[in-house]
Amino acid sequence: MSKNAMTSKLTLQLQQAATDPEDIFDLVCVGFGPASLAIAVALHDRGVRAKVLFIERQRSFSWHAGMLLPNARMQISFMKDLATLRDPRSKFTFVNYLKTKDRLVAFTNLSTFLPLRDEFNDYLTWCASQFEQDVRYCQETISILPINSCQEPVKSWQVVSKDVNTNRQGFVTARHVVVAIG
Ligand SMILES: Cc1cc2nc3c(=O)[nH]c(=O)nc-3n(C[C@H](O)[C@H](O)[C@H](O)COP(=O)(O)OP(=O)(O)OC[C@H]3O[C@@H](n4cnc5c(N)ncnc54)[C@H](O)[C@@H]3O)c2cc1C
Repeated sequence: MSKNAMTSKLTLQLQQAATDPEDIFDLVCVGFGPASLAIAVALHDRGVRAKVLFIERQRSFSWHAGMLLPNARMQISFMKDLATLRDPRSKFTFVNYLKTKDRLVAFTNLSTFLPLRDEFNDYLTWCASQFEQDVRYCQETISILPINSCQEPVKSWQVVSKDVNTNRQGFVTARHVVVAIG
């Protein structure tokens, strides 16, 4: 079977499959790294009440885990965190993270704008932990297909993912999709 025929067959199967209303989302973000996390934070800060899902293949949030070398520092100022430049009063600023962890004075006394990568990873993980209910970990997205592909513009998408432990496939329906896989 040609690739096009296989894609058409899969599209048809997905259309025919009963879609659980629970699995219909306004927005699905594929990948839950800093880019998607920034979207989660911005939607939260603006009070947007959309139904959003983040799909991540790792077991839990981690920012380039293999590259957290001892004493390696960020290459940009902590002011370029997930919130400050958009809204310095957001609870998701790096400064609020430091305050929450009782590290504000110690960090200030370092006289640097460049946190350790390890600490910035902890900041990102702290932010991510506040969106646990919206994230499906251990899920790797393998295809994104338009529903009713004859319809222009496309109104919704089937996002197909597999469980990284069991290889079991499942899908959700999204009105909008952001691909933020790094
Ligand atoms: C060593 C290193 C140091 C860096 N230092 C800085 C710095 O100091 N300052 C700076 O601004 N930038 C730095 N960067 C750049 C870095 O790209 C960004 O900081 C940031 O990680 C980009 O975020 P992202 O969400 O776009 O991508 P990523 O961080 O790569 O996140 C993508 C996520 O998508 C997931 N994913 C991928 N494919 C799938 C799939 N098919 N299904 C489900 N999930 C999937 C991945 O597991 C990952 O969690 C650095 C990068 C590296 C590698």
